[in-house]
Amino acid sequence: MSYGDPAKYITQLYVSEECQQDPYTQEIMQRSRLPVTVIGDRQHPVVAGAYPGNLSQGKHYLLLCRNRGQFFKPCPATREYTCCEYQVLNIGMGCPMDCVYCILQAYLNNPWISFFVNIQDLFAELDAAFAADPQTFLRIGTGEFTDSLALDSLTRFSPLLVDYMRDKENAVLELKSKSVVIDNLEGLDHGGRTLVAWSLNSPPIMEQEEIRTASLEERLAAAVRCADWGYRLAFHFDPIIWHEGWQEGYRATIRQLFRTVPADRIAWISLGALRYLPALRNIAAERFPQSRFFYEEFVEGLDGKARYFRSQRVEMYQLIADELARFAHPRTCIYFCMESENIWQEVFGSTPSEQGGLRAMLDRSVR
Ligand code: SF4
Repeated sequence: MSYGDPAKYITQLYVSEECQQDPYTQEIMQRSRLPVTVIGDRQHPVVAGAYPGNLSQGKHYLLLCRNRGQFFKPCPATREYTCCEYQVLNIGMGCPMDCVYCILQAYLNNPWISFFVNIQDLFAELDAAFAADPQTFLRIGTGEFTDSLALDSLTRFSPLLVDYMRDKENAVLELKSKSVVIDNLEGLDHGGRTLVAWSLNSPPIMEQEEIRTASLEERLAAAVRCADWGYRLAFHFDPIIWHEGWQEGYRATIRQLFRTVPADRIAWISLGALRYLPALRNIAAERFPQSRFFYEEFVEGLDGKARYFRSQRVEMYQLIADELARFAHPRTCIYFCMESENIWQEVFGSTPSEQGGLRAMLDRSVR
């Protein structure tokens, strides 16, 4: 059964004292109708138990606070693999959904969710970035440390971002989600500068390993609505997971995708096999003892992350790439997230370098 809006998992708001009087904070507090606890600027919600055992509880708590660091920076990719040179816009940390493989479990060490309310600073930083380098085309995403839309019914931040991006001719914003909280995107003058993206997986993975996320049918129906509103779309098969029946599973998802969504609206589709920081395996084993996929064999990649053997990755990529090639629009850029040029060559028969680089390939698909 569908969980619905993941924001309803939040049961308690915490507000950092220094933000309490901000109109935006007040707006979120009133809209949420949740109990509010105001805490000191350097304090945080107290969640019983130790991390990561207390993550399930911590995901009930949303802290509205200032971001004291940078909002906007290049994706923390590693040099060893071909990277798409994405720009990360950090709107908050943590997520009310709960995927077994979520890298944030190992990457963050706070069990609660944060949303940064000093959005004037965020927009000022974006203004400075655009002014400093008006020639470089930027692909910007908010879905690196949180889900782009999971809290949008509380924050209504997406319309502000979409409106900001509307006239940025040298950039696009990608809102990436596993929820279908898209009502705030309806009727906006987005100028074609925002893409709405969903992560997709094989049906058993979506059903069993992605807790409180939308079903495949819901994600695709939401994508169709966004396409009707003029947004371009993107999809991410990431992480691709080796499991019994993976061939039929990924084939079924791809066929349902192209039966439902207009192919010519899809700007890009990424593929990335499961890779994880070693610490994640123990965290997931503790939190989700029924999940089995971490018990496959893995090797350590050049970035220190565990990955499937190359032969296994190629086998999975080959099947998925072949299936996508049958249905995808010729303009849609199908690419690997963090793979070597050897894998590109083996699966696609060409490398990004031969096509001007991955960055240029992606930029071309939306320019
Ligand atoms: S939806 Fe994304 S951010 Fe949220 S738990 Fe799943 S993988 Fe993590």
